[in-house]
Amino acid sequence: MKIAVVGTGYVGLVVGTGLAENGHFVTCVDRDSAIIDRLRAGQLPIYEPGLEELVVRNVEEERLHFSSNLAEAVGEALLIFVCVGTPSHPNGDPDVSEVLAAAEEIAHAMTGYRIIVNKSTCPVGTTELIRDTVKKLTPHSFDVVVNPEFLKEGAAVDDFMRPDRIVVGCDDVRVLEIMKELYAPFLRTGKPFLTMDLRSAELTKYAVNSMIAARVALMNELANICEAYGADVSSVREGVATDSRIGATYVFPGLGFGGSCLPKDVQAAARMAREKGVGYEILDAVTAANERQQKRFIRRVLDFYGEAVTQKTIALWGATFKARTDDLRGSPALRIIDALLEAGAKVSVYDPVAGPKLTALYGDKISVTDKSYDALERADGLLVITEWREFYRPDVERMATLMREKVIFDGRNLYRPKVMADAGFRYFSIGRPSV
Ligand code: NAD
Repeated sequence: MKIAVVGTGYVGLVVGTGLAENGHFVTCVDRDSAIIDRLRAGQLPIYEPGLEELVVRNVEEERLHFSSNLAEAVGEALLIFVCVGTPSHPNGDPDVSEVLAAAEEIAHAMTGYRIIVNKSTCPVGTTELIRDTVKKLTPHSFDVVVNPEFLKEGAAVDDFMRPDRIVVGCDDVRVLEIMKELYAPFLRTGKPFLTMDLRSAELTKYAVNSMIAARVALMNELANICEAYGADVSSVREGVATDSRIGATYVFPGLGFGGSCLPKDVQAAARMAREKGVGYEILDAVTAANERQQKRFIRRVLDFYGEAVTQKTIALWGATFKARTDDLRGSPALRIIDALLEAGAKVSVYDPVAGPKLTALYGDKISVTDKSYDALERADGLLVITEWREFYRPDVERMATLMREKVIFDGRNLYRPKVMADAGFRYFSIGRPSV
Protein backbone atom coordinates (compact mmCIF):
# COMPACT_ATOMS: atom_id res chain seq x y z
CA MET A 1 0.00 0.00 0.00
CA LYS A 2 1.14 3.59 -0.57
CA ILE A 3 1.21 5.58 2.64
CA ALA A 4 2.05 9.17 3.55
CA VAL A 5 3.09 10.11 7.07
CA VAL A 6 2.71 13.79 7.91
CA GLY A 7 5.14 14.85 10.66
CA THR A 8 8.48 13.06 10.94
CA GLY A 9 9.21 13.47 14.64
CA TYR A 10 9.47 10.91 17.44
CA VAL A 11 6.21 9.25 16.41
CA GLY A 12 6.07 9.84 12.65
CA LEU A 13 9.54 8.53 11.90
CA VAL A 14 8.93 5.32 13.84
CA VAL A 15 5.47 4.81 12.35
CA GLY A 16 6.66 5.45 8.79
CA THR A 17 9.69 3.23 9.18
CA GLY A 18 7.70 0.45 10.87
CA LEU A 19 5.11 0.45 8.09
CA ALA A 20 7.85 0.41 5.43
CA GLU A 21 9.48 -2.51 7.25
CA ASN A 22 6.20 -4.37 6.69
CA GLY A 23 6.46 -3.90 2.95
CA HIS A 24 4.51 -0.70 2.38
CA PHE A 25 5.71 2.25 0.30
CA VAL A 26 5.93 5.13 2.70
CA THR A 27 6.72 8.80 2.26
CA CYS A 28 7.47 10.64 5.50
CA VAL A 29 6.79 14.34 5.17
CA ASP A 30 7.91 17.16 7.41
CA ARG A 31 7.52 20.90 7.04
CA ASP A 32 10.91 21.31 8.68
CA SER A 33 13.21 20.94 5.68
CA ALA A 34 16.27 20.52 7.95
CA ILE A 35 14.78 17.25 9.23
CA ILE A 36 14.18 16.01 5.70
CA ASP A 37 17.66 17.08 4.54
CA ARG A 38 19.26 15.18 7.42
CA LEU A 39 17.21 12.06 6.75
CA ARG A 40 18.05 12.18 3.08
CA ALA A 41 21.71 12.42 4.04
CA GLY A 42 21.29 9.25 6.10
CA GLN A 43 21.26 11.00 9.50
CA LEU A 44 18.51 10.55 12.04
CA PRO A 45 17.12 13.78 13.55
CA ILE A 46 16.36 11.94 16.81
CA TYR A 47 18.00 9.25 18.90
CA GLU A 48 15.88 6.14 19.20
CA PRO A 49 17.53 2.74 19.77
CA GLY A 50 17.23 0.37 16.80
CA LEU A 51 15.67 2.94 14.50
CA GLU A 52 18.66 3.89 12.35
CA GLU A 53 19.24 0.37 11.09
CA LEU A 54 15.59 0.08 10.03
CA VAL A 55 15.60 3.46 8.33
CA VAL A 56 18.74 2.64 6.37
CA ARG A 57 17.44 -0.75 5.25
CA ASN A 58 14.07 0.56 4.11
CA VAL A 59 15.58 3.52 2.30
CA GLU A 60 17.93 1.14 0.50
CA GLU A 61 14.97 -1.07 -0.43
CA GLU A 62 13.25 2.07 -1.77
CA ARG A 63 10.22 1.56 0.44
CA LEU A 64 10.91 4.59 2.62
CA HIS A 65 11.17 8.14 1.29
CA PHE A 66 11.48 11.56 2.87
CA SER A 67 9.98 14.71 1.47
CA SER A 68 9.01 18.28 2.27
CA ASN A 69 6.35 18.12 -0.40
CA LEU A 70 3.13 17.15 1.33
CA ALA A 71 1.03 17.56 -1.80
CA GLU A 72 3.11 15.07 -3.73
CA ALA A 73 3.04 12.48 -0.93
CA VAL A 74 -0.70 12.86 -0.36
CA GLY A 75 -1.34 12.79 -4.10
CA GLU A 76 0.05 9.27 -4.33
CA ALA A 77 -1.08 7.68 -1.05
CA LEU A 78 -4.31 5.98 -0.02
CA LEU A 79 -3.59 6.18 3.70
CA ILE A 80 -2.34 9.40 5.29
CA PHE A 81 -1.08 9.19 8.86
CA VAL A 82 -1.12 12.46 10.81
CA CYS A 83 1.72 12.50 13.38
CA VAL A 84 2.18 16.20 14.05
CA GLY A 85 2.66 17.79 17.44
CA THR A 86 -0.16 18.64 19.85
CA PRO A 87 1.54 20.72 22.53
CA SER A 88 -0.18 22.70 25.29
CA HIS A 89 -0.91 26.40 25.14
CA PRO A 90 0.83 28.32 27.95
CA ASN A 91 -2.44 28.11 29.97
CA GLY A 92 -2.43 24.30 29.67
CA ASP A 93 -5.16 24.03 27.02
CA PRO A 94 -4.33 21.52 24.30
CA ASP A 95 -3.26 23.10 21.02
CA VAL A 96 -4.52 21.17 18.00
CA SER A 97 -3.67 23.88 15.48
CA GLU A 98 -0.91 21.78 13.85
CA VAL A 99 -3.36 18.93 13.34
CA LEU A 100 -5.98 21.18 11.76
CA ALA A 101 -3.37 22.92 9.62
CA ALA A 102 -2.16 19.51 8.43
CA ALA A 103 -5.79 18.55 7.68
CA GLU A 104 -6.15 21.68 5.52
CA GLU A 105 -2.99 20.89 3.61
CA ILE A 106 -4.08 17.29 3.10
CA ALA A 107 -7.49 18.44 1.83
CA HIS A 108 -5.89 20.74 -0.75
CA ALA A 109 -3.58 17.96 -1.89
CA MET A 110 -6.14 15.16 -2.30
CA THR A 111 -6.61 13.89 -5.83
CA GLY A 112 -9.20 11.22 -5.00
CA TYR A 113 -10.55 9.12 -2.12
CA ARG A 114 -8.25 9.09 0.94
CA ILE A 115 -8.21 7.65 4.46
CA ILE A 116 -6.81 10.09 7.03
CA VAL A 117 -5.49 8.30 10.10
CA ASN A 118 -4.95 10.58 13.07
CA LYS A 119 -2.17 9.39 15.38
CA SER A 120 -1.63 12.71 17.13
CA THR A 121 -3.03 12.79 20.66
CA CYS A 122 -6.05 15.09 20.42
CA PRO A 123 -8.93 16.03 22.73
CA VAL A 124 -12.25 14.32 22.19
CA GLY A 125 -14.07 15.80 19.23
CA THR A 126 -10.97 16.74 17.24
CA THR A 127 -11.53 14.00 14.67
CA GLU A 128 -14.91 15.49 13.90
CA LEU A 129 -13.20 18.87 13.52
CA ILE A 130 -10.68 17.31 11.12
CA ARG A 131 -13.56 15.85 9.13
CA ASP A 132 -15.35 19.22 8.94
CA THR A 133 -12.13 20.99 7.98
CA VAL A 134 -11.31 18.60 5.16
CA LYS A 135 -14.90 18.43 3.90
CA LYS A 136 -15.00 22.18 3.35
CA LEU A 137 -11.86 22.14 1.24
CA THR A 138 -12.09 19.15 -1.08
CA PRO A 139 -14.64 17.71 -3.48
CA HIS A 140 -13.17 14.22 -2.98
CA SER A 141 -14.59 11.62 -0.63
CA PHE A 142 -12.58 10.54 2.39
CA ASP A 143 -12.74 8.87 5.80
CA VAL A 144 -11.08 9.86 9.06
CA VAL A 145 -9.87 7.28 11.55
CA VAL A 146 -8.45 7.69 15.06
CA ASN A 147 -5.50 5.44 15.77
CA PRO A 148 -3.81 6.59 18.99
CA GLU A 149 -0.16 5.72 19.37
CA PHE A 150 1.11 4.17 22.60
CA LEU A 151 4.83 3.86 21.85
CA LYS A 152 7.35 4.90 24.51
CA GLU A 153 10.43 6.87 23.55
CA GLY A 154 13.48 4.72 24.21
CA ALA A 155 11.58 1.58 23.23
CA ALA A 156 9.57 3.04 20.38
CA VAL A 157 10.56 0.62 17.64
CA ASP A 158 9.70 -2.42 19.69
CA ASP A 159 6.49 -0.86 20.97
CA PHE A 160 5.35 -0.03 17.45
CA MET A 161 6.34 -3.36 15.94
CA ARG A 162 4.96 -5.42 18.83
CA PRO A 163 2.13 -3.37 20.32
CA ASP A 164 0.08 -4.49 23.33
CA ARG A 165 -2.95 -3.75 21.19
CA ILE A 166 -4.07 -1.56 18.33
CA VAL A 167 -6.89 0.88 18.99
CA VAL A 168 -8.86 2.16 16.04
CA GLY A 169 -11.79 4.52 16.22
CA CYS A 170 -13.75 4.31 13.00
CA ASP A 171 -17.34 4.41 11.82
CA ASP A 172 -17.02 2.68 8.45
CA VAL A 173 -16.73 -1.10 8.19
CA ARG A 174 -14.76 -1.09 4.92
CA VAL A 175 -12.18 1.29 6.34
CA LEU A 176 -11.97 -0.86 9.43
CA GLU A 177 -11.11 -3.87 7.25
CA ILE A 178 -8.27 -1.89 5.62
CA MET A 179 -6.91 -0.91 9.04
CA LYS A 180 -7.18 -4.50 10.27
CA GLU A 181 -5.32 -5.74 7.23
CA LEU A 182 -2.63 -3.07 7.69
CA TYR A 183 -1.99 -4.00 11.32
CA ALA A 184 -2.40 -7.80 11.00
CA PRO A 185 1.38 -8.42 10.71
CA PHE A 186 1.93 -6.46 13.94
CA LEU A 187 -0.57 -8.58 15.87
CA ARG A 188 0.53 -12.07 14.89
CA THR A 189 1.02 -13.11 18.51
CA GLY A 190 -2.69 -12.64 19.14
CA LYS A 191 -2.61 -9.15 20.63
CA PRO A 192 -6.03 -7.51 20.18
CA PHE A 193 -7.23 -5.13 17.49
CA LEU A 194 -9.74 -2.98 19.37
CA THR A 195 -12.33 -1.09 17.42
CA MET A 196 -14.50 1.61 18.89
CA ASP A 197 -16.23 4.87 18.07
CA LEU A 198 -14.11 7.94 17.32
CA ARG A 199 -14.60 9.65 20.67
CA SER A 200 -13.79 6.55 22.73
CA ALA A 201 -10.60 6.02 20.75
CA GLU A 202 -9.57 9.64 21.30
CA LEU A 203 -10.25 9.33 25.01
CA THR A 204 -8.45 5.98 25.38
CA LYS A 205 -5.08 7.65 24.85
CA TYR A 206 -5.76 10.18 27.61
CA ALA A 207 -7.07 7.43 29.89
CA VAL A 208 -3.87 5.40 29.51
CA ASN A 209 -1.57 8.36 30.11
CA SER A 210 -3.66 9.54 33.07
CA MET A 211 -3.45 6.12 34.70
CA ILE A 212 0.32 5.97 34.20
CA ALA A 213 0.86 9.51 35.48
CA ALA A 214 -1.33 8.85 38.52
CA ARG A 215 0.73 5.78 39.43
CA VAL A 216 3.96 7.74 39.19
CA ALA A 217 2.57 10.64 41.21
CA LEU A 218 1.14 8.35 43.88
CA MET A 219 4.39 6.44 44.21
CA ASN A 220 6.27 9.71 44.65
CA GLU A 221 3.87 10.81 47.36
CA LEU A 222 4.31 7.44 49.09
CA ALA A 223 8.08 7.92 48.86
CA ASN A 224 7.77 11.26 50.61
CA ILE A 225 5.70 9.66 53.36
CA CYS A 226 8.41 6.99 53.69
CA GLU A 227 11.01 9.70 54.09
CA ALA A 228 8.97 11.55 56.70
CA TYR A 229 8.54 8.38 58.78
CA GLY A 230 12.03 6.93 58.33
CA ALA A 231 10.80 4.06 56.14
CA ASP A 232 12.54 2.91 52.95
CA VAL A 233 10.53 3.25 49.76
CA SER A 234 12.61 0.56 48.04
CA SER A 235 11.21 -2.03 50.42
CA VAL A 236 7.72 -0.57 50.24
CA ARG A 237 7.90 -0.58 46.44
CA GLU A 238 8.80 -4.26 46.41
CA GLY A 239 5.83 -5.01 48.60
CA VAL A 240 3.59 -3.02 46.27
CA ALA A 241 5.01 -4.29 42.97
CA THR A 242 4.65 -7.96 43.89
CA ASP A 243 0.92 -7.57 44.44
CA SER A 244 -0.69 -9.11 41.38
CA ARG A 245 -3.43 -6.47 41.46
CA ILE A 246 -0.82 -3.75 41.01
CA GLY A 247 2.32 -4.93 39.20
CA ALA A 248 5.85 -3.63 38.82
CA THR A 249 5.68 -0.94 36.14
CA TYR A 250 5.69 2.78 36.89
CA VAL A 251 6.17 2.30 40.62
CA PHE A 252 9.72 3.66 40.84
CA PRO A 253 9.81 6.92 42.73
CA GLY A 254 11.90 9.70 41.24
CA LEU A 255 11.81 13.26 40.00
CA GLY A 256 8.28 13.10 38.68
CA PHE A 257 7.11 12.37 35.17
CA GLY A 258 8.26 14.57 32.31
CA GLY A 259 8.53 14.35 28.55
CA SER A 260 6.31 15.73 25.87
CA CYS A 261 3.26 13.56 26.64
CA LEU A 262 2.29 12.76 30.23
CA PRO A 263 2.29 16.32 31.63
CA LYS A 264 0.29 17.78 28.75
CA ASP A 265 -2.06 14.82 28.39
CA VAL A 266 -3.02 14.79 32.08
CA GLN A 267 -3.70 18.52 31.91
CA ALA A 268 -5.75 18.08 28.76
CA ALA A 269 -7.78 15.28 30.34
CA ALA A 270 -8.49 17.51 33.35
CA ARG A 271 -9.59 20.31 31.05
CA MET A 272 -11.90 18.00 29.12
CA ALA A 273 -13.48 16.89 32.39
CA ARG A 274 -13.82 20.44 33.68
CA GLU A 275 -15.46 21.58 30.49
CA LYS A 276 -18.23 19.04 30.99
CA GLY A 277 -18.53 19.65 34.72
CA VAL A 278 -17.36 16.17 35.70
CA GLY A 279 -14.69 15.23 38.26
CA TYR A 280 -11.22 16.48 37.44
CA GLU A 281 -9.84 16.71 40.99
CA ILE A 282 -7.70 13.55 40.78
CA LEU A 283 -6.16 14.65 37.49
CA ASP A 284 -5.37 18.11 38.85
CA ALA A 285 -3.90 16.52 41.97
CA VAL A 286 -1.64 14.34 39.81
CA THR A 287 -0.26 17.41 38.06
CA ALA A 288 0.14 19.27 41.36
CA ALA A 289 1.90 16.33 43.03
CA ASN A 290 4.25 16.05 40.09
CA GLU A 291 5.12 19.74 40.24
CA ARG A 292 5.71 19.46 43.98
CA GLN A 293 8.03 16.51 43.49
CA GLN A 294 10.28 18.44 41.12
CA LYS A 295 10.26 21.57 43.26
CA ARG A 296 11.01 19.50 46.38
CA PHE A 297 14.16 18.10 44.79
CA ILE A 298 15.34 21.57 43.75
CA ARG A 299 14.57 23.01 47.18
CA ARG A 300 16.50 20.23 48.89
CA VAL A 301 19.60 20.94 46.76
CA LEU A 302 19.41 24.70 47.22
CA ASP A 303 18.75 24.44 50.96
CA PHE A 304 21.75 22.16 51.35
CA TYR A 305 24.17 24.73 49.92
CA GLY A 306 22.39 27.82 51.21
CA GLU A 307 23.97 31.13 50.23
CA ALA A 308 27.23 29.39 49.38
CA VAL A 309 25.55 27.98 46.25
CA THR A 310 26.99 30.90 44.27
CA GLN A 311 30.47 29.43 44.88
CA LYS A 312 29.46 25.91 43.87
CA THR A 313 29.70 23.83 40.74
CA ILE A 314 26.91 21.29 40.47
CA ALA A 315 27.20 18.34 38.11
CA LEU A 316 24.26 16.56 36.50
CA TRP A 317 24.35 13.02 35.22
CA GLY A 318 21.63 12.72 32.64
CA ALA A 319 19.37 15.43 31.27
CA THR A 320 16.70 13.63 29.27
CA PHE A 321 13.35 12.88 30.92
CA LYS A 322 14.10 9.17 30.72
CA ALA A 323 16.89 6.94 29.47
CA ARG A 324 17.37 5.81 25.84
CA THR A 325 16.07 9.02 24.28
CA ASP A 326 17.55 12.40 23.39
CA ASP A 327 14.24 14.14 24.10
CA LEU A 328 14.61 17.04 26.51
CA ARG A 329 11.03 18.24 26.21
CA GLY A 330 9.44 18.51 29.66
CA SER A 331 12.51 17.05 31.33
CA PRO A 332 12.88 17.85 35.04
CA ALA A 333 16.55 18.53 34.21
CA LEU A 334 15.71 21.79 32.46
CA ARG A 335 13.85 23.14 35.45
CA ILE A 336 16.68 22.01 37.74
CA ILE A 337 19.38 23.60 35.57
CA ASP A 338 17.37 26.84 35.37
CA ALA A 339 16.98 26.94 39.15
CA LEU A 340 20.69 26.30 39.74
CA LEU A 341 21.70 29.00 37.27
CA GLU A 342 19.24 31.43 38.79
CA ALA A 343 20.69 30.73 42.23
CA GLY A 344 24.14 31.56 40.88
CA ALA A 345 25.67 28.07 40.75
CA LYS A 346 27.91 26.81 37.95
CA VAL A 347 26.47 23.78 36.17
CA SER A 348 28.20 20.99 34.31
CA VAL A 349 26.16 18.29 32.60
CA TYR A 350 26.86 14.95 31.04
CA ASP A 351 24.21 13.07 29.09
CA PRO A 352 25.07 10.13 26.81
CA VAL A 353 23.06 11.49 23.86
CA ALA A 354 21.52 14.88 24.61
CA GLY A 355 24.78 16.89 24.78
CA PRO A 356 24.30 18.70 21.46
CA LYS A 357 20.70 19.58 22.30
CA LEU A 358 21.78 20.92 25.70
CA THR A 359 24.46 23.07 24.10
CA ALA A 360 21.92 24.38 21.61
CA LEU A 361 19.58 25.29 24.48
CA TYR A 362 22.03 26.77 26.99
CA GLY A 363 25.09 27.81 24.96
CA ASP A 364 27.94 28.72 27.29
CA LYS A 365 25.68 29.19 30.32
CA ILE A 366 26.48 25.60 31.31
CA SER A 367 29.35 23.28 30.60
CA VAL A 368 28.40 20.15 28.67
CA THR A 369 30.94 17.34 28.83
CA ASP A 370 31.48 14.39 26.50
CA LYS A 371 32.41 12.02 29.29
CA SER A 372 30.55 11.29 32.51
CA TYR A 373 33.52 11.71 34.86
CA ASP A 374 34.59 14.98 33.22
CA ALA A 375 31.40 16.56 34.56
CA LEU A 376 32.47 15.68 38.10
CA GLU A 377 35.81 17.48 38.02
CA ARG A 378 35.91 19.92 40.95
CA ALA A 379 32.14 19.57 41.38
CA ASP A 380 30.59 20.31 44.75
CA GLY A 381 27.73 17.92 44.20
CA LEU A 382 26.29 15.44 41.74
CA LEU A 383 22.61 15.30 40.81
CA VAL A 384 21.57 12.02 39.21
CA ILE A 385 18.75 12.95 36.90
CA THR A 386 18.30 10.17 34.32
CA GLU A 387 18.52 6.42 34.85
CA TRP A 388 20.97 5.77 31.98
CA ARG A 389 22.51 2.31 32.43
CA GLU A 390 26.06 3.66 32.47
CA PHE A 391 25.30 5.43 35.77
CA TYR A 392 24.18 2.29 37.59
CA ARG A 393 27.57 1.06 38.84
CA PRO A 394 30.03 3.97 38.79
CA ASP A 395 33.60 3.95 40.00
CA VAL A 396 32.90 5.48 43.40
CA GLU A 397 36.56 6.01 44.26
CA ARG A 398 37.13 7.90 41.04
CA MET A 399 34.09 10.04 41.77
CA ALA A 400 35.40 10.83 45.23
CA THR A 401 38.80 11.82 43.86
CA LEU A 402 37.36 14.11 41.20
CA MET A 403 34.74 15.90 43.26
CA ARG A 404 35.53 18.83 45.52
CA GLU A 405 32.64 18.04 47.88
CA LYS A 406 31.40 14.48 48.16
CA VAL A 407 27.66 15.03 47.89
CA ILE A 408 25.12 13.17 45.77
CA PHE A 409 21.45 13.92 45.26
CA ASP A 410 20.13 10.84 43.53
CA GLY A 411 16.84 11.56 41.80
CA ARG A 412 16.54 7.96 40.60
CA ASN A 413 17.58 5.89 43.62
CA LEU A 414 20.33 4.19 41.61
CA TYR A 415 22.75 3.61 44.47
CA ARG A 416 22.79 1.82 47.80
CA PRO A 417 22.99 4.39 50.58
CA LYS A 418 25.45 2.24 52.54
CA VAL A 419 27.86 1.96 49.60
CA MET A 420 27.87 5.72 49.23
CA ALA A 421 28.24 6.33 52.96
CA ASP A 422 31.18 3.90 53.11
CA ALA A 423 32.84 5.85 50.31
CA GLY A 424 32.48 9.03 52.35
CA PHE A 425 29.62 10.61 50.41
CA ARG A 426 26.70 12.51 51.80
CA TYR A 427 23.92 10.82 49.91
CA PHE A 428 20.32 11.92 49.46
CA SER A 429 17.78 9.92 47.49
CA ILE A 430 14.01 9.74 47.13
CA GLY A 431 11.99 8.15 49.91
CA ARG A 432 14.95 6.55 51.65
CA PRO A 433 16.84 7.63 54.73
CA SER A 434 19.67 10.05 53.87
CA VAL A 435 23.22 9.13 54.84
P1 NAD B 1 7.39 15.90 17.24
O1 NAD B 1 7.35 17.32 17.63
O2 NAD B 1 8.60 15.09 17.53
O3 NAD B 1 7.09 15.74 15.69
C1 NAD B 1 6.09 16.45 15.03
C2 NAD B 1 6.63 16.81 13.66
O4 NAD B 1 5.55 17.25 12.84
C3 NAD B 1 7.66 17.95 13.67
O5 NAD B 1 8.87 17.49 13.08
C4 NAD B 1 7.01 19.05 12.84
O6 NAD B 1 7.94 19.77 12.07
C5 NAD B 1 6.06 18.24 11.97
N1 NAD B 1 4.90 18.98 11.44
C6 NAD B 1 4.04 19.77 12.07
N2 NAD B 1 3.10 20.24 11.23
C7 NAD B 1 3.38 19.72 10.01
C8 NAD B 1 2.79 19.81 8.73
N3 NAD B 1 1.68 20.56 8.54
N4 NAD B 1 3.35 19.15 7.69
C9 NAD B 1 4.46 18.42 7.88
N5 NAD B 1 5.06 18.28 9.08
C10 NAD B 1 4.54 18.92 10.13
O7 NAD B 1 6.10 15.22 17.95
P2 NAD B 1 5.97 13.72 18.46
O8 NAD B 1 6.65 13.57 19.76
O9 NAD B 1 6.32 12.80 17.33
O10 NAD B 1 4.40 13.64 18.74
C11 NAD B 1 3.44 13.66 17.70
C12 NAD B 1 2.08 13.34 18.28
O11 NAD B 1 2.08 12.00 18.82
C13 NAD B 1 1.66 14.23 19.44
O12 NAD B 1 0.28 14.42 19.39
C14 NAD B 1 2.02 13.43 20.68
O13 NAD B 1 1.23 13.77 21.77
C15 NAD B 1 1.72 12.03 20.20
N6 NAD B 1 2.49 10.96 20.85
C16 NAD B 1 3.82 11.17 21.14
C17 NAD B 1 4.56 10.13 21.71
C18 NAD B 1 6.00 10.35 22.06
O14 NAD B 1 6.55 9.53 22.83
N7 NAD B 1 6.67 11.36 21.56
C19 NAD B 1 3.95 8.90 21.98
C20 NAD B 1 2.62 8.72 21.63
C21 NAD B 1 1.89 9.77 21.07
